[in-house]
Amino acid sequence: MSAQDLSRLFKKIGEKEVDRRKFVKLLASAGFFTYLGTQKANAFSSKAKGKIVIIGGGAAGISMAARLLHWLDNPDITIIDPSDKHFYQPGFTLISAGVYKPEDVWKTQESCMPKGVKWIKDTVAEVDPIWNQVTTVSGKEKITYDFLVLAPGLQINWEGVEGITQQTLGQGNAHCIYDFEGAQKTWKAIQEFAKTGGKGVYADTYTKHKCGGAPKKVCLLSEHYMRKQNVRDKVDLHYFTAEHQLYDVPYFTPRLEEIYKERNIPINLNVRVKGVDLEKKQVHMERIETVGDQKITTPFVEDYDFLHFTPPMSAPDFVRDAGLGWTEGKLAAEAWAMVDKETLVHKKYPNIIALGDVAGIPTSKTSAAVRVQAPIAAKNLISLMEGKEPVEKYNGYAACPIVTDYGHVLLCEFDYDKNAQVSFPFTLIDTSREQWLAWLLKVYILKPLYFYGMLNGYA
Ligand SMILES: Cc1cc2nc3c(=O)[nH]c(=O)nc-3n(C[C@H](O)[C@H](O)[C@H](O)COP(=O)(O)OP(=O)(O)OC[C@H]3O[C@@H](n4cnc5c(N)ncnc54)[C@H](O)[C@@H]3O)c2cc1C
Repeated sequence: MSAQDLSRLFKKIGEKEVDRRKFVKLLASAGFFTYLGTQKANAFSSKAKGKIVIIGGGAAGISMAARLLHWLDNPDITIIDPSDKHFYQPGFTLISAGVYKPEDVWKTQESCMPKGVKWIKDTVAEVDPIWNQVTTVSGKEKITYDFLVLAPGLQINWEGVEGITQQTLGQGNAHCIYDFEGAQKTWKAIQEFAKTGGKGVYADTYTKHKCGGAPKKVCLLSEHYMRKQNVRDKVDLHYFTAEHQLYDVPYFTPRLEEIYKERNIPINLNVRVKGVDLEKKQVHMERIETVGDQKITTPFVEDYDFLHFTPPMSAPDFVRDAGLGWTEGKLAAEAWAMVDKETLVHKKYPNIIALGDVAGIPTSKTSAAVRVQAPIAAKNLISLMEGKEPVEKYNGYAACPIVTDYGHVLLCEFDYDKNAQVSFPFTLIDTSREQWLAWLLKVYILKPLYFYGMLNGYA
């Protein structure tokens, strides 16, 4: 299939609401499922029995349930999740750039729940991994399990940035796209910023955070928006990262740094956001540098006219409280779930598996990673149910499509060793540079692939 045919196909899918069957057929015709391994969805079945409880009905929980339903002859699966809506969170970035409308990125949770699972619409407050039971916030039920799947995503610790809360997002022109409402306010503010001009400050955070590329994407998209409006000379943009380099996957880093240089956006390294003074429009930061054995912390203040910040993130509190998080090493401070990085089985409790953002594994927290983790986690869980060793191994695959402007994406795909990977039919193009085809993929394909493929246990 030629690039032109592919582009026509992408647009056809994006412009119309296609149903799941049509979508699967269209993608199969583009050769996608060869790359994604979807044809293997129903490759085996098992008579294994046991009560499976899944905490969280997001990308990971629902994909996992769908896989288990395909493969178990007698599934007994309960999902606990309080949400009414199921969000396609990668779409938040495109809302903040005016490419998607808010209603494009969610469906009702009811419509996403796989048929054949029991859904308890409640929030988990506690897990007792010794007695194999879960308590919900409503306190009405103690739910027992034989096997537990931890998939509650992560907790955004808004209180980690002083002076602003999730509720006050937007005040003092301080914004964050890690929140659905926040992404909508960001888009309004960027349009306004193009009219007023001034200084734009963009910052990530020092903890692991979902889609590490998102703070960079919102910065690059707003820069291009200013050029499109012919007001680039009226705005002065600055990027601050807590890391000691802009991006840590060597195959993609040089081009990304070059893009920031070409766009005249200075990169400030080793900087953490501490708080925001919404009235004065000042962001309080500290630069942390290591000199010999010593850590030197230098506080400073930046004035801004527009701010995009990222709050610190961690595993949900109940994971730490239940003793399910790492207690030593780099992943301990935020208590990410202590699982084997290849099998995703808990290191202390072999009847627990974790996947998605909560998993304490050294990869990037993305739904692209979940797409690859789900079949591995499901097969390993079935092996445990059958009393066998889990043998399926996850190689750390994650992807972060860094939108570099309206029309181009640097499609960063990589594994635990930070080796570049290619999972879409793009082997003939140079993926170390931003590509228009990858933009089409991001805008038109990945969302239906998520709702119709991944959540149904196919892609
Ligand atoms: C702005 C933004 C941009 C992103 N961009 C990309 C991208 O370009 N590409 C990409 O691949 N990924 C991207 N992501 C990341 C991606 O959305 C996540 O990695 C993915 O959703 C993780 O899936 P999950 O199931 O672990 O968590 P989630 O999808 O967040 O689901 C967690 C679920 O658990 C439920 N839950 C939480 N706590 C409890 C509890 N105590 N009890 C019961 N249920 C609970 C929640 O209600 C939710 O339904 C982005 C995310 C954001 C916010």
